[in-house]
Amino acid sequence: MSESSTANAILAEVERLSAQLSQSASAYLQERVLDIRDVAGQLLAAAYPDVPVARFELTEPSIVIAEDLTPSQFLSLDRSLTKGLILTHAGKTSHTVILARAFGIPTLSGISVSDCEAALATKVYLHAELGIVAVNANTGVEIYFDRAMQLADNRINQQKRFAGKQGMTRDGKRIEVAANIACAVEAEGAFSQGAEGVGLFRTEMLFMDRASAPTEEEQFRAYSDVLKAAEGKPIIIRTMDIGGDKPIDYLNLPAEQNPFLGYRAVRIYPQFLNLFRTQLRAILRAACCGHARVMVPMIQSIEEIRWVKEQMRIVANELSTDGVDHVAHIELGIMVEIPAVAFMIDQFSKEVDFFSIGSNDMTQYLLAVDRDNDQVSGLYNSMAPSFLRMLRQVVDTAHANGRWVGLCGELGADARLLPLLVGAGLDEVSMSAPNIPATKALLAELDSQACRTLFEAACDCATIADVKAVLDNREQGEEGKSLLDTECVFKRANYRTKEEAIQALVGNLALTGRTDAEFLLEEDIWAREAVFSTGLGFGFAIPHTKSENIRHSSISIAQLESRLTGSLNPAMWISSSCLP
Ligand code: PEP
Ligand code: MG
Repeated sequence: MSESSTANAILAEVERLSAQLSQSASAYLQERVLDIRDVAGQLLAAAYPDVPVARFELTEPSIVIAEDLTPSQFLSLDRSLTKGLILTHAGKTSHTVILARAFGIPTLSGISVSDCEAALATKVYLHAELGIVAVNANTGVEIYFDRAMQLADNRINQQKRFAGKQGMTRDGKRIEVAANIACAVEAEGAFSQGAEGVGLFRTEMLFMDRASAPTEEEQFRAYSDVLKAAEGKPIIIRTMDIGGDKPIDYLNLPAEQNPFLGYRAVRIYPQFLNLFRTQLRAILRAACCGHARVMVPMIQSIEEIRWVKEQMRIVANELSTDGVDHVAHIELGIMVEIPAVAFMIDQFSKEVDFFSIGSNDMTQYLLAVDRDNDQVSGLYNSMAPSFLRMLRQVVDTAHANGRWVGLCGELGADARLLPLLVGAGLDEVSMSAPNIPATKALLAELDSQACRTLFEAACDCATIADVKAVLDNREQGEEGKSLLDTECVFKRANYRTKEEAIQALVGNLALTGRTDAEFLLEEDIWAREAVFSTGLGFGFAIPHTKSENIRHSSISIAQLESRLTGSLNPAMWISSSCLP
């Protein structure tokens, strides 16, 4: 085959597959076109090493605007200069979006490139949390975003000081803060953000978006890369959680009416025995490179875990017979994500070394609420007293039986609920890496005994609203902060407008650990201002609000350098959940 026909053959195949996928009714499959293009680009680069490949070279801090960006194009960008991504086609399952999130790069999707023409080669502000792109900003908008960036930088720098520290409450109770990762390349970023281990390595990502399963060698490399990057820190490798919302075409799993209650995770292993044993071989071999643990998803019965253990014995024997280096005994754990398991922890403790609560699935199964169904999303709430009682049951029973318990669902990164997770007595929480420094910083403010009291009170509640009310009284769980403190007093502040003053003072409440939700708090203050605007023209003004987005009732005071346009000097602002 001539060189040009090799290239043509690759391109023709890309077009054929892309056309097929684009016509699919499934948004997920449509998004895979990008992955096909990515692989084709890599194939062409390997087939024509002498042909220069067009690369995106960033020379200054930039926001990258693209129709789409493949994971490898994203990884080839200088991440220190990539300040944000604006993509047209990336959906929530896009691997590029997952990677960008893991590296803490603000990303917006669903905006067409043609709508961004005005943004080319000019100053652009991107606020992913608020979903805003500002082009041709006027002075007021520039001032807002410049201050927002300054506040965000201050916050990141402040939290970075905790990245290198151990997760610990202020009274010295250790809680390991680990990272959730989906591919080897995320590990490096996770450890630089302070991950004390990997609490969940979602290996199914290795099996997705391809025509056949990864080989043993390929998996071995992926697992050992992470274990080497970890330098001895523990890595929990979860065996493939395929099925449910994670389909794999080449396995030809039947379509199901109720995929979340159907044929997924450990339930498919007996049918795909070779696939499972290949994964176990790769894990046991890679375990020689560091501290590996294995975790099995969707375990529901003792029989299932005994079957898995039998497979591990068979695979270890095979490796010994073949004379292949491997670790024969590896710590084994299960995901606690099916409610039935919560009542059998004593029995499971005889079979496994540890547990990790999958709060995403546990919430959906315990409350019978589909985690992906907008119609019932209002009912999906891990603050439900029933969920908290389940947590207490699992942790207390595991501890009584000498086993440790982690939590690796989204709940782990929810700052508002952290005192409850500490109070429950969890030994580890695992989350997406950018949340790690903030979680460690917050942990350092909490008192474990007070958190336990708070947790017991929350478990005794009748309703979610009652749990929220218990949480509002947060001073039970952390170092109390006084209503008025010098950390909230500013002399000769340079705010020119009421908007600037509110933004700066609320931003400071976030920096001083008085709120975890500064934008919601700012909205609450403006909502109050809309109903009852603070009068201007007096010596001082008191915009105030009652808000669930404040952790400690607070008064902030700013003495201004010069009068606000048409108004006040000095300014005083109160924000509070409840004034004492
Ligand atoms: C969970 O269910 O909480 C979990 C961590 O697993 P996944 O989100 O991959 O189902
Ligand atoms: Mg799960």
